[in-house]
Amino acid sequence: MLCHKCPEKAVIELQHGALCRNHFINYFEDKVFKTIKKYQLIERKDKLCVAASGGKDSLTVLHLTKKYLEKNNLDTNNLFALVIDEGIANYRQHTIEDLKLFCQKEEVELKIISAKQEFNYTLDQAYPIINKKSKKKPCNICGVWRRYLLNKYSRKFAATKLITGHNLDDEAQAIIMNIFKANTELAAHLGPISGVQEHKLFVRRIKPLYFCTEKETRLYALLKRFQVNFKECPYAEEGYRIQIRDMLNEFESKYKGTKQGIIQSFLALLPLLKEKAIQELSAPIKVCIKCQEPANQEICNACKLGDILKNAR
Ligand code: SF4
Repeated sequence: MLCHKCPEKAVIELQHGALCRNHFINYFEDKVFKTIKKYQLIERKDKLCVAASGGKDSLTVLHLTKKYLEKNNLDTNNLFALVIDEGIANYRQHTIEDLKLFCQKEEVELKIISAKQEFNYTLDQAYPIINKKSKKKPCNICGVWRRYLLNKYSRKFAATKLITGHNLDDEAQAIIMNIFKANTELAAHLGPISGVQEHKLFVRRIKPLYFCTEKETRLYALLKRFQVNFKECPYAEEGYRIQIRDMLNEFESKYKGTKQGIIQSFLALLPLLKEKAIQELSAPIKVCIKCQEPANQEICNACKLGDILKNAR
């Protein structure tokens, strides 16, 4: 198969034709830069924190954010990476090693925050205790911890935007999960810029890879020779999201464009969802009485998990 733009061998076949290595890299980067521009994800005054993990998505978004800043004569000193070490044995320490090398090469500062230091437990230690009391799966606990620590520390380090490596597949899965669970309120928080309103305790999350598929992002990372440990987290198989991912992949292989269709339909509805969410915001965002971080209720979800661990001692 040849590239439809030149006589070179193609590395991928997309809906509009096959592309060689160089044309694919240009196409991918162009798509990311257009997303940043169209949705005004990055502004001149922004201090940017990339939520990094050492996986292909976060390395790709870190590399391309730096490239975007350079291309647009923006200050690259306003960019840093933040990784949460949840404490997952034989997994996270490897991705952090990959990430350290990558950040050194890219000349981007890396900050590491450990769940053990913050909550006194690693995820491996906390999961069996919390699961016994509340049946929560590792990904539920990990999700609460990661959201909490990323927001808290990106804000402490003065970031105005938190960049995540969510790609089109991640977003399509999140949309379907919210539909299946009737979480219309949570769905309003999705999109290339998450959240429905500005708040001084929240750092807004942006997703430059929003229109890039998992397959495209994986190929980009491979072609750019990013050193990535492609292994999955040992807890990944236990998540609800994995079942949604497999279902969507099966649909996509039978009906091309399924995931794109989900994203496009969702984006058409998103302004309505956001408007409804703003109208229904009855109470201002609360502050957790234990840790003073933002919360939906009196006590935030991270402190509720902390209480389970404390009571189990
Ligand atoms: Fe955390 Fe689950 Fe992701 Fe593992 S798969 S890093 S436990 S959210």
